[in-house]
Amino acid sequence: MITRHFLGSAFWIGIYFILATMPIFAMLIGPTPPGRGFWRELSIGFGFAGLSMMGLQFFLTGRFRNVTSPYGIDVVYHFHRNIALIAFLFILFHPFFLIVSSPKTLMLLNPLSSPWWMMAGAIGLLSFAVVILTSLYRIKLGLTYERWRVIHGYVSVIAVALSLSHIVGVGYYMQGHLKHYLWIALVAAWFSVLIYIRILKPLIMLRHPYIIEDVVKERGKSWTLTLRPEGHKGINFKPGQFAWLTIEKSPFSIREHPFSFSSSAMDTGKIQMTIKELGDFTAKIGEIPPGDQAYIDGPYGTFTIDHYLEPGYVFIVGGIGITPIMSMLRTLADRRDKRPLLLIYSSKTWEDTTFREEIDELKNRLNLQVVYVIEKPSEECNGEAGMVTADIIARYLSDDRMEREYFICGPEPMQKAVKEALVKLGLPLERVQSESFNFV
Ligand SMILES: Cc1cc2nc3c(=O)[nH]c(=O)nc-3n(C[C@H](O)[C@H](O)[C@H](O)COP(=O)(O)OP(=O)(O)OC[C@H]3O[C@@H](n4cnc5c(N)ncnc54)[C@H](O)[C@@H]3O)c2cc1C
Repeated sequence: MITRHFLGSAFWIGIYFILATMPIFAMLIGPTPPGRGFWRELSIGFGFAGLSMMGLQFFLTGRFRNVTSPYGIDVVYHFHRNIALIAFLFILFHPFFLIVSSPKTLMLLNPLSSPWWMMAGAIGLLSFAVVILTSLYRIKLGLTYERWRVIHGYVSVIAVALSLSHIVGVGYYMQGHLKHYLWIALVAAWFSVLIYIRILKPLIMLRHPYIIEDVVKERGKSWTLTLRPEGHKGINFKPGQFAWLTIEKSPFSIREHPFSFSSSAMDTGKIQMTIKELGDFTAKIGEIPPGDQAYIDGPYGTFTIDHYLEPGYVFIVGGIGITPIMSMLRTLADRRDKRPLLLIYSSKTWEDTTFREEIDELKNRLNLQVVYVIEKPSEECNGEAGMVTADIIARYLSDDRMEREYFICGPEPMQKAVKEALVKLGLPLERVQSESFNFV
């Protein structure tokens, strides 16, 4: 399994490297124009590689399961974000080296006298800058997530299209049939992915709608939505995975939000998601009338017990991070699994501890020990007071601690503190899986 996983990861990294560098090799195929000095050639190489990496960004956000599963979709999104900075730097190197090696290139930036392809390149560069800056400073710029997504989607396509027309307009490294075909294949691949993401996939989702059966209030300002597939079999997910949910609007809408499944993976006739009121979309979940339509894009994610068949598990959870773990516990109970489980569940108040009654009932069906850690404990509270610390974790870990797999889900600072605590207790981080709710 590990070898397959490793080969899968290595395969996609190899494909990425080949596709990213393809335009540079394409430059050298067939009839090659005379070289124009080291810096100029280097600047063109950087420009080609940067643009190729930008084009590949469409693949990275395409949520292709084969591509994301060896790493986890969160890792792919992190890669997408960080590689964009490198690609942008490469694209910036292109004019920078040209201008440094030949300052008269600056004259070409005069919009009154410069050729159209020069303007296309300059506006393309500015568009990439807009994409990067709005992504880095979305919150500081006061952009809502949805507005940012619209800007991000459209401006990236404009930037790539303008940069391509710049290359075609310059035409220096485009002579020869083979080069033409290679570029056409590359560009066709980028834009096919866009067509798949924006048109084909939503069409498939449109044919697989869900009906919201009920919306039930839970502790901790949360709501559980029950969705039933309408006219199709629904999806099979692994406990701990998540999906993007679109409510009422068509699947072509960009208003989709990721949520973990909270129901048992064994219950194939329905899916449940438990959603905490947090912002503009989630605050209105309680008002959704049963009978509304919804669309699901998933399942995704590698945060699942089904990938780690260890002799036992430890779950360390904060707040609404309980949802994927709830799916794992419900699934294990339905499978009559008797492996030892420890759940350390931190919450602000006892009153707001989502699912606590059901978790206590699950103790009768599972070999489950539960430790509540309550930040502001009240009289009736049952558990530890304060935050999860290395001391609290150490108090409850059993002798088989090294054989268990650890699953952490909760706010970022809590995840960081728990990972540090586990390392302090001598646990290797390879045994620790975590899910972040704000990776996008
Ligand atoms: C893998 C994963 C699983 C999740 N599981 C759950 C769950 O089971 N229960 C739960 O309550 N929450 C879950 N979340 C968090 C949930 O997606 C956000 O709380 C929700 O999208 C916030 O939307 P909002 O418009 O109400 O909030 P806003 O106030 O508008 O946004 C708050 C923050 O949430 C993020 N966000 C907003 N909209 C989106 C979007 N469309 N896509 C991605 N991020 C967005 C942004 O970083 C934003 O700054 C999960 C997130 C991820 C990534």
